[in-house]
Amino acid sequence: MPHINPNFSQEIKQFGAKDFEFCFNCGNCTAICSLSTASESFPREMIRYSTLGLEDELKSSLKPWLCYYCGECSSDCPRQAHPGELMMSLRRWITAKYDWTGLSGLFYKYIAAYIIGFLLIIAGIIAFAVSKDFDQEVIMHYGHYFEMFAIAGVFAVILVPNIIRMWIYTIIKPKVKAPFKSYLNAFSELIIHMFTQKRTLLCEDTRETRVRWFEHLILVIGYLTLLFTTVFLDWFGSHNLFVISLGYIESAIIFVVTFDFVLKRIKKKSELHKFSHPSDWFFVIWLFFMGITAFMVRLFIDINIIENNFWLYLLHLIVLVQWAIIIVPFGKWTHFLYRSFAMYFAKISGIKIK
Ligand code: SF4
Ligand code: SF4
Repeated sequence: MPHINPNFSQEIKQFGAKDFEFCFNCGNCTAICSLSTASESFPREMIRYSTLGLEDELKSSLKPWLCYYCGECSSDCPRQAHPGELMMSLRRWITAKYDWTGLSGLFYKYIAAYIIGFLLIIAGIIAFAVSKDFDQEVIMHYGHYFEMFAIAGVFAVILVPNIIRMWIYTIIKPKVKAPFKSYLNAFSELIIHMFTQKRTLLCEDTRETRVRWFEHLILVIGYLTLLFTTVFLDWFGSHNLFVISLGYIESAIIFVVTFDFVLKRIKKKSELHKFSHPSDWFFVIWLFFMGITAFMVRLFIDINIIENNFWLYLLHLIVLVQWAIIIVPFGKWTHFLYRSFAMYFAKISGIKIK
């Protein structure tokens, strides 16, 4: 007997779904979706499952990740049931299910949880700075160590166990036959999707689609390389001109692209940007702050005014810690990771996707 949650409609609305119960099952959305195929069709099926509260079917499905939220289905829905937004909300809900800590669900459902988390981190950093007498060298030294250990810690303690839970829900529990060899053979798929998100280009062939894909691509490159530059090349402490310039370029890419993302969400011109969940805002705004504060800190170091403006480094550290401890493990950042693994698991399972 499938498990039915009669309150699922209410629950998924806490994750951002809008009016999906208006759906009268016409199938326009599935017909228009460029990424849906005959064997892997969505979003209508996901809407039916959501309406019926079939939690287990939803939890074991990779389909929420096959949608890249172009919004075509929502524009063409005769009932304004916002199927694209439902798919987005299912991704939030499903990540809350993958997360063993339960914190993702808390953050997605209650904005107050974000605010409390952010405030606790501000208080913690200020207390730490006071305990070190605002000693610039010592605090920057610890800040650098935090960057290294936070990444390793978040991956080891939260993200890797959550990916294993995703694998259990989508491969093991549904008893998908996947020989060990298929895990090796499909590995390149994981890397390719992780870095290129190339399926975005299969959405409606418009300039907007291509710009969106390109912005995501350079953002991923900028973000990952800045991480490398700050953690392994010690950007803030480096005297190497190449490393310094590299960090400037990477951080500039981050704040320029995310500024554009914020503007698009404010303007709400496309379907994709019509409804922004708090987690969407936190993702783009914090990434913007990360880029701009990192850029400014390095600039202040280079023009020798960081000592008298140490507040800027503390601000950067606050943003960095909030990003690393809240947004990366429990917020929208995880979608980038889970989506890449979804493509990998789809390949392993022999699911034919576009
Ligand atoms: S969501 Fe809209 S387009 Fe899709 S099946 Fe329902 S009514 Fe039709
Ligand atoms: S948002 Fe785009 S990709 Fe997602 S289901 Fe709708 S049409 Fe398909």
